[in-house]
This record gives sequence, C-alpha cells and structure tokens, in this order.
Amino acid sequence: MNLDAPVSELKGIGKKTEELFNAVGVYTIRDILLYFPRDYISYPDVKDPADLMPGEHAAIFVHISRPPVVNTKSRLKTAILDIGYQNIQLRAIWFHQPYIRSVLKKGQDYILYGRTAEKNGVLYLEQPLIHSPEQYRNLQKTVQPVYQLTKGLGNNIVKKAVDQALSECVSDDEMSSLRDRLPEEILQKHSLCGYAYALQNIHFPIDIEACIEARRRLVFDEFLLFLLQMHLMKEQEEKTANNLVFQEDSILSDIIDRLPYELTGAQRRAMEDVFADLRGPYTMQRLIQGDVGSGKTVIAFSAMLEISKQGYQAAIMAPTDVLARQHATKLAAFCEQMGVDAPVVLLTGSLKAAEKRTALETIRNEKNALIVGTHALFQECVEYASLALVVTDEQHRFGVKQRAGLAEKGELPHYLVMSATPIPRTLAIILYGDLDISVIDEVPAMRLPIKNAVVDPTWRDKAYSFIEKQIAAGHQVYIVCPLVEPSEEMDGENVLEYSKKIRERFQGVANVGMLHGRMKPEEKNAVMEAFLRGETQILVSTTVIEVGVDVPNATVMMIENAERFGLAQLHQLRGRVGRGDAQSYCIFMQGKKANTENERLSILNRSNDGFEIAREDLKLRGPGDFFGIRQSGAFSFQLADVFQDMAMLQKASEEAKEILAADPELAAPEHYMLKKEIRRMAENSYSGERFHI
Ligand code: ADP
Ligand code: MG
Repeated sequence: MNLDAPVSELKGIGKKTEELFNAVGVYTIRDILLYFPRDYISYPDVKDPADLMPGEHAAIFVHISRPPVVNTKSRLKTAILDIGYQNIQLRAIWFHQPYIRSVLKKGQDYILYGRTAEKNGVLYLEQPLIHSPEQYRNLQKTVQPVYQLTKGLGNNIVKKAVDQALSECVSDDEMSSLRDRLPEEILQKHSLCGYAYALQNIHFPIDIEACIEARRRLVFDEFLLFLLQMHLMKEQEEKTANNLVFQEDSILSDIIDRLPYELTGAQRRAMEDVFADLRGPYTMQRLIQGDVGSGKTVIAFSAMLEISKQGYQAAIMAPTDVLARQHATKLAAFCEQMGVDAPVVLLTGSLKAAEKRTALETIRNEKNALIVGTHALFQECVEYASLALVVTDEQHRFGVKQRAGLAEKGELPHYLVMSATPIPRTLAIILYGDLDISVIDEVPAMRLPIKNAVVDPTWRDKAYSFIEKQIAAGHQVYIVCPLVEPSEEMDGENVLEYSKKIRERFQGVANVGMLHGRMKPEEKNAVMEAFLRGETQILVSTTVIEVGVDVPNATVMMIENAERFGLAQLHQLRGRVGRGDAQSYCIFMQGKKANTENERLSILNRSNDGFEIAREDLKLRGPGDFFGIRQSGAFSFQLADVFQDMAMLQKASEEAKEILAADPELAAPEHYMLKKEIRRMAENSYSGERFHI
C-alpha cells in the first residue's frame, strides 16, 4: 500500500470519517501509522461487586442463572441482566442489542467489562463487553491504545483504521513501504527493534515490554532524522561572511544608559556577545538560553535597534499571535525610549486584509523596518527590502523547518534564537548544532522569589480573599483552567463557567477578562490589551498565556487542576508572575481533595529554578513512565522528549556523526531509505507547529 495514499483508501472510511481524520491532522496512510496513541489501557483485574464505585471502568465475574430480560417495548430495546449480589443492586445494561439475550448462555460464566454508573440507587454496568474468563485472562496480558480523538471520531474507528493500514503495509512484498530505514548494523549496535515491528507495537503492543521497545526505536528514529536533516542543512549554510556595512558607533552604550533598570551581569555578557557577532566576520548564529523572566527580550530588541539604525531590517518571530502583538507594542515603546525612529510592523495571520497589505508594503519598501510576527513572516508573499537579522523567540516551540524558512528570506541574515527550555549545555549543543550559546543564568537582583502554595479546593475561599487583597493593592491576577468549556470526558475547571463564577465573586471589586484559544483573534487581542493596560484585573485563561506574556503588574497566578499540567508547563505559567518588583505568588490548586501529596507539584513548590525542576522531574520518572504528561513538548518531537530521552539523543547524535563522516551525501545503498525519508521531510510543505517525522 502506498504510504502517501489518502486515508479514504482504507475500507470503511468514507467522506465523513476522512474529514474527521483530516481534522486531527491525518491525511495519508503514513499519517495514520504515525498517529501514535496518547495513552494505553490494560484490562483491570476482576473486581468484587461490593467494591464497585460509580464512574469507573471495571470487570466483574457473572454466572448466568437467568438470561437478560429484553424490553422490546422501549425504543432502545434494552437488554438488562440482573446481577443481584448480596444486598447490592447491580445490573448490566445494553442498549439496542436485544440479541445479548442469546449471547449469554444459561449456566455459563462470563467476565463483563464496562463503565459503571449509578441511577436511582441502582448501580449499572453500561454496555459492558462480554468475554469468557479465559479470553479475559488473555486480554489482560495485552495493552490497548487510546488515541487523541475528536467529536465523531471514536477510539474504535481509529483503532480499526490503524490496524488495517498496518496489516496492508506489513504484508506488502519485498519493497514493503515499511522496509527498515536503518541499516541492520545500526539496529544491532543500539539493540533496536525493526521499524515495522515498532509501528505494530506502538499501536498494538503484545505486552508492555514490546511497547517500550517500540517506543525506543521510534524515538531513536525521530532524533536521528532530525539531526541528519539539521546537519545536511548546515552543510549548505556553512559559515557565511558577514557582508553588512556598519557605519556609526554602536548604540549599545546609549541603550544601557537609557534603560530604566540595571542589566544583570549575565544579560550584559549576552548583549556583548550579540553585538560583537553583528560586527564580526561571519553572520551570527547564536542561541540565548535563559529561564523565564531572566530578561531575554531586551537583548533581542537592542540588537534589532542596532540593525535598524544601520539601515537594515530586523524581524522577530513569536510562536503565538498574542505574544507577537505584545512584542510589537513593547518594541514600539522601546524605540521611543531609545530615541530610535523606525517603523514597527506587525504581521500575523489574524490581520485584516487591508492591514496585511499595508504591512507587506512597508516590509517591501522600508529598509530600516522593525518587523514582528508569527510564522506568517515567512510566507511566500512576504518580500523583505533588506532583512539582516532574524530573531526567533521561544525557539523550542518551532520546528527546524520554520527556522530554515525565515533564514532563507534574508540575503545572509544574522540569526538569533531565544529559548527558555532549561536543557543542559551538552544537549543544547546537539540540538542546536553549531549555534554559539549565551546563557543567562541570573535573574534581576531586585526580584523577590515567587512564593508558592499547593492547596486543594477547601482553600479556594481563602485564595479568593487573598486575591482580593492583591487587587486592592493595585495588582493583577491570572487564573488558569485546563478546559475551555464543560467536557463529558474530562473533569476539570473550564474557562467559560469559571469566569462567570469569578465575575460574580468579584463583582464591584475587579473587572474580569476571559481568554481561550477558540476565541477570534480580534477578541483575544482586545482581552489581552485590556489586561495589559490594567483595565481588567483578573484574567481567566487557558494555557494560551503560557508563553512569553509579560505584564509585570500581575502578582498572582492561580492554576486550577494543577495536577493536569506538565511540570515544564507549570513552570512557564508561573513565569507570568514575578516579573516586577512586587512580591508575587503562585497558587497550585489541586482538583480533587488530595490525600497524597502530588510529587510533581511539590517540586514546583520547593523550587523556582527551571533547570532544577527539569532535573527533579527526570528523577521522578521511571523508564516505564513515558505515557505521562510530556515534560516539555520542546522541539515539537512527536514521541521523543529531549529530557526523558536524553541518553537516546546522545546515541542518535553519535550515530548521525558517524553516518555523515562515512557517507556525507548519504549516497551509499544502505542509506538510501534514510535519505529518501529526509528528503520527504524537507519537501513536505510545512504547516502548523509540529515537526513530523
Ligand atoms: P523572558 O526572559 O522570560 O523573555 P522578559 O525579557 O520578558 O523575560 O523580561 C521579564 C521582565 O523583566 C520584563 O518586564 C522586563 O522589562 C524586566 N527586566 C528585564 N531585565 C531586567 C533587569 N535587568 N532588571 C529589572 N527588570 C528587568
Ligand atoms: Mg520571553
């Protein structure tokens, strides 16, 4: 089967299902094979009915003494099996399945597996699956995939489609589309399983060990392909001479004089590195790494002003619309403060047609323009008059291709990358190739460490009173919820209902804004700007505020259902406060009244240091714990996690070097499949924020 064929080639996938698959980013057979489960379930041990709780998935043993009763009058044709057990009222119920009556044979034993629910004092096992005790024992040895779903696209549909795609591809002939891309020698050296086996077992593992093996293999591939592609790209963009002609003195000392604060030592060093690069013999290729709130923006802005002063264009690319707009506002203010007169242009996907035309025109004509945007910056229609510096903020949010895309726009632009991902230097060198690195390992001296509290909902009233006091003192507050709207599948606070509640609670005390990803861009901007200007004091939001947003007057971050987020994400969210001189607070609200201390939250409670948090988190995870919340999503790898799979990354890096040393063009027959894969990756027109292998 052709991996590039549309999913509709699979049996049973019609137009409608195809659209649903498209909605989750699955278009081709390859996509579906790479649509990895987000979790797995294994069948639980059989439970004593007396221990059943409503709302759980459970298996119970039944001996059929009387077959189920079918209510033929009801439209639902429900079959009901009474499983009276001591003094518990327990029933199994099947809708639309009258034939169940003849499936369950009198005198036989079965295991029923399903979800429990309580109605009018009776406990029901709803639509349970029926197995013989032996079948069930065998099932218990397996692990079942759980996929990311969307409304209308159920787990079984995805499972069936994957199963079919797998069996069609694996049963191919010699030229199997799933032929291994790695030479046998490499597989042996790193004890990796075959590619087809890995795909098979990441979806339908025969057991947990096979699943771990499969993941190891796929993670290795992901890293290796990423690194090979990066090195091959580098080949073409070796060190390039810096052809910019700089006339005047640097504006660095002016900037330092006019800044309202003293730069930290680390900021000053990074600033000097960057300014030296700008006038150096080669174009700059530099990474600035610094924890949230360490003050990276001022370095990027200063470099941009220098470039503009010299008559060239500088662009900064942010991963979200909200952040791009904020940067544009702040950059304009920064220009004014520094006495620089240059047009600041915003270019994002959410601009109106007329605004976009004006922006494009300025970019085409104004040679000293300062340009701010999202990945809209490297669309084909954007023509730069004289792009000489490209800054990527929050680099770990982008894939490699996006990085290349914008770099191609300038003649030979300087390139500056900023990231808050706390990766050790050795890893940064691998992941960023030969970028030079400046580390900002100091926070502004005046800053008070954030005070943290991990609490449960019984504390909510106290938290609100506390928030009220902070607002009375003139400060602002973020409240983050995991969901946008009420959900049947997931428990957790949602922004829509929560903001209503907060509006009532804080009536006459605070204006409340609401922000989530489903709002129109203009609405989002209006809400964000109102908060920036201090017109709203409380912002109830999803994690859209996670990256980069800077409102120094905000002093409280309260995170509802904190247990639902990854550590790195919580650290980033917390980074929205503690950015000014005032004491700031972060309240981690655990969803359920927790008896056991959540270890991840207690790490955050103890430490405000991104590096330490990443280290501690690693210690917490055992090798089997790879389906938990992903640490970072950094670099948008699909399965791999740069922290957790650090050792694998190192191995892949060594392997990539060896391969390229022996065969720089990947021309050898044993590298044919690898090369093909890399070429495919490169050609794949880039869309979205994800880096697919
Ligand atoms: P990040 O590194 O997370 O991007 P920002 O650059 O947004 O951090 O800086 C966070 C806040 O700290 C901003 O409000 C900025 O104006 C302020 N800031 C930056 N450097 C200093 C400094 N040396 N002293 C005091 N405040 C600073
Ligand atoms: Mg930032």
